[in-house]
Amino acid sequence: MGTKVASAVPPILLTSRDQVRHQVIKSQREGKRVGVVMTMGALHEGHFSLVRRCAEECDVTVVTIFVNPMQFGANEDLKTYPRQLHQDLDSLQPLPVDLVFAPDHSEMFPDGYSTLVSPPHVAGPLEGQCRPGHFRGVATIVLKLLHVVPADTAYFGQKDYQQYLIIKRMAADLDLATTIRVCPIVRTPAGLALSSRNAYLNPQELASALAIYQSLQQAQQLVREGVRHVAEITARMRETLHAGRIDRIDYVAITDCETLEDLRHVDRRAMALVAAHVGTTRLIDNLLLHPR
Ligand code: AMP
Repeated sequence: MGTKVASAVPPILLTSRDQVRHQVIKSQREGKRVGVVMTMGALHEGHFSLVRRCAEECDVTVVTIFVNPMQFGANEDLKTYPRQLHQDLDSLQPLPVDLVFAPDHSEMFPDGYSTLVSPPHVAGPLEGQCRPGHFRGVATIVLKLLHVVPADTAYFGQKDYQQYLIIKRMAADLDLATTIRVCPIVRTPAGLALSSRNAYLNPQELASALAIYQSLQQAQQLVREGVRHVAEITARMRETLHAGRIDRIDYVAITDCETLEDLRHVDRRAMALVAAHVGTTRLIDNLLLHPR
C-alpha cells in the first residue's frame, strides 16, 4: 500500500475478460493489493474521487467501463447514455490508474448468456419500485465483474446509496472475497451531485436541479432544529422541489440507513433520499441526517 503519484504511463486498456483476470491474479500473487472502480463511463470528478481513494489504499487500480444494458428499463436512456471511451481514457491519464477494462457487449454477454442474479431485499423499495429489474441488472453485472476482476477492494459512490447497500449485502451473503467500500458524493460548488446524466441538462434545468440538494439540506436543517416528524420534513422537502420547478417526483424518503425502510420519526441516524425528473432527465441524490 502507499500513496501513488499520478502515473506518467497511460493505463493499459484491456477488452478481454481473460486478460484482465490474468493481470489481476498475477498482481495478487506478487503480493499486491488490487482495487476496482466500476463505471459506465462518461467519467467525471465523482468517478475520479473513487479512483483516487482506490489508489491510496491499493497497489493496483483497475477501472471498468461498461454501459450495462441489463440495468436499463425499456423506456430508459440506454440508447442516449453518453459513450465517450477515448475521452474517458484521456481523462484517466493523469490519474494513478493501472488497468482499464472496457469490454464490448459480446465479451460480457456472449451468445447463450442467460444467468441473472436476484438482488437482496434492500433492492425492494425506492429505486426498486421505480425501476423494476434495474437492481437485478446491477447485481448481475457487479457479480460478474467481480469474477472477472477479483479485486481485494471495490469502491462505490454514496451517490447510488441503495446500490451500495445491495452490493454490500450481496458480497456478504455470497461470501465474496472483495471488501466493499463507499465514498462520499462529489458535488458541483452549487451542490448538484455530479452524474453522467447531468450532461442531458440545459442551463435552465441545471438551475432547477439544484432544488434537489436544497431539499436534502433543508431536511438536515429541520432535523438540526429538532423536527423529528418525517411527514413534516418530507412535505417541506417537496415544497422546495416544487419551488425549483421540479414537479415529477418519484420519491422523497427518510429511511433507516441500513434497511431503507421508511421512518416515521428521525430518532436515529437516517438517510434522506430523493429521485425526481428535471425535464426528461431523472436524477437521484441523498444525504445522511444526524439527530443530535
Ligand atoms: P456510474 O458510472 O454512474 O455507474 O457510476 C460509477 C460509480 O461512480 C458508482 O459507484 C457511483 O455511485 C459513483 N459515482 C457516480 N457519481 C458520483 C458522485 N457524484 N460522487 C461520488 N461517486 C459517484
